[in-house]
Amino acid sequence: PWIFGVANSRFSTVAEPSWRHGNSLRIPNLIGGSFVDSHSSDSIDVINPATQEVVSQVPLTTKEEFKSAVSAAKEAFPSWRNTPITTRQRIMFKLQELIRKNMDKLALNITTEQGKTLKDAQGDVFRGLEVVEHACGMATLQMGEYVSNVSNGIDTYSIREPLGVCAGICPFNFPAMIPLWMFPVAVTCGNTFVLKPSEKDPGASMILAELLMEAGLPDGVLNIVHGTNDTVNAICDDEDIRAVSFVGSNTAGMHIYSRASASGKRVQSNMGAKNHGVVMPDANVDATLNALVAAGFGAAGQRCMALSTVVFVGDSKFWEEKIVERAKALKVGAGTDPEADLGPVISKQAKERVCRLVQSGVESGARLLLDGRNIKVPGYEQGNFIGPTVLADVTADMECYKEEIFGPVLICMQADTLDEAINIVNRNKYRLFPFRSKLLFMFVVFSLINFSLFENYNAVMMLSLFCRYGNGAAIFTSSGLAARKFQTEIEAGQVGINVPIPVPLPFFSFTGSKASFAGDLNFYGKAGVQFYTQIKTVTQQWKDLPGGVSLAMPTSQ
Ligand code: NAD
Repeated sequence: PWIFGVANSRFSTVAEPSWRHGNSLRIPNLIGGSFVDSHSSDSIDVINPATQEVVSQVPLTTKEEFKSAVSAAKEAFPSWRNTPITTRQRIMFKLQELIRKNMDKLALNITTEQGKTLKDAQGDVFRGLEVVEHACGMATLQMGEYVSNVSNGIDTYSIREPLGVCAGICPFNFPAMIPLWMFPVAVTCGNTFVLKPSEKDPGASMILAELLMEAGLPDGVLNIVHGTNDTVNAICDDEDIRAVSFVGSNTAGMHIYSRASASGKRVQSNMGAKNHGVVMPDANVDATLNALVAAGFGAAGQRCMALSTVVFVGDSKFWEEKIVERAKALKVGAGTDPEADLGPVISKQAKERVCRLVQSGVESGARLLLDGRNIKVPGYEQGNFIGPTVLADVTADMECYKEEIFGPVLICMQADTLDEAINIVNRNKYRLFPFRSKLLFMFVVFSLINFSLFENYNAVMMLSLFCRYGNGAAIFTSSGLAARKFQTEIEAGQVGINVPIPVPLPFFSFTGSKASFAGDLNFYGKAGVQFYTQIKTVTQQWKDLPGGVSLAMPTSQ
């Protein structure tokens, strides 16, 4: 039987969800508090990347169904925004308890649909749970400001009010954490929400929605619509949606940023990455190698904060071989195998893309120190597995360096000095397509000609072509001086000093610079609350009003 997103699977152990209708694999939408089947005849298979079993099917939501989800959110907004903040927080308190109780169920679903190991899947849920815990303190986070007696008998204060209906569009790589970056903050601020999970692994969002309803969230406050480009475009264009949160690739992110901004929405768009680890010769060898291997190959390299590129400075270049030894010792297997260090990549297409980029590196002169492309996992011969792969002597002009590989591939480069290493990191380029320069030239000419037609859309797309990734970067060193120089000069949103994956806890914000982020206000932390609220400034006067009429601009008296 089909159980919690696991069709006929050997891993099924948990109870059937309330939104499960009959024997259909089809996942329903969540509209106005009810799990409703889509009338669309089109759907996408959700495939277990370790086995190729069809786990479930995601409907391509129709325009009418999408609109009814937005209408449900719009209808729920007036009463939800007037629900006391303490009541909204209490629902988050309950949600965090329910997530803890259902941790295994969530993790199993993630492993089944996404492929990562169960332990890693628990980490995925846990990092999202921390945002829920953070949202439990929303009353303090949402506080406004007050200045008394700005003029005689007059006070001014500002309050942070919710925006209305907000929407979130999610990537495949963190099926629980990233939806949890979005809706807990948005709804606890008093907004209502329309979530579009990744079509590759929607199950965790469905479980979370069910838990949120159990926690007491009123109908219509959280809605879920499934689909791909058309649903995303409908979100960007809908006049009732006030803000869009996006996490995913640059191609989708820049499109969404431009299209949704053009229709007057706030947008926060977290996008791709090429994160570098700079290794100084004075770093602690063991700790650094362990960190590099874990951050390069964990989650099969499919983390936006994966350290995919190592820049060895000076004599640390001799550590390359040691990385290979440690990488060889990792066990590749199905995520349900408790011994597995890394699971499969998300799809056959993803595997082909990773293998193609590795091959292009070899053909351009990189040394393949470890090749995981032909790995076979007994019992899972159909799985999209790639073993740890290490490419050395990579240079900045190689395709494998310029593209975000998003697989278990560690690229090694060399620099003589810290300055040179910082320069490499800051110059890495994001490219929208694997361009030839002629094509780029034609695109620029086309964009200029059509600038007046597409207004800011093309301008933003063009800008993104010339930007460089700036998601995360880390330095490994025992020198405070080197660390401080790196922290100051590096162009990245998240900086790690002897910390390989510096994903901030939710009282800070997850940032990103250059081509890794578009927008002004980042996810969670203070910026997250600011993103989902707008300021209203009130000036009040409680005194005997002066007589007479003055048409002059009022000034402080
Ligand atoms: P993706 O862009 O393919 O998909 C993300 C979402 O966008 C999905 O819901 C998808 O349906 C939608 N989408 C995809 N193409 C679209 C299009 N042309 N028009 C409209 N909507 C579209 O991303 P992914 O493959 O699911 O995720 C991997 C990417 O996400 C990587 O680039 C990774 O670096 C990035 N990521 C970034 C962060 C971060 O915080 N910076 C975090 C996680 C993942």
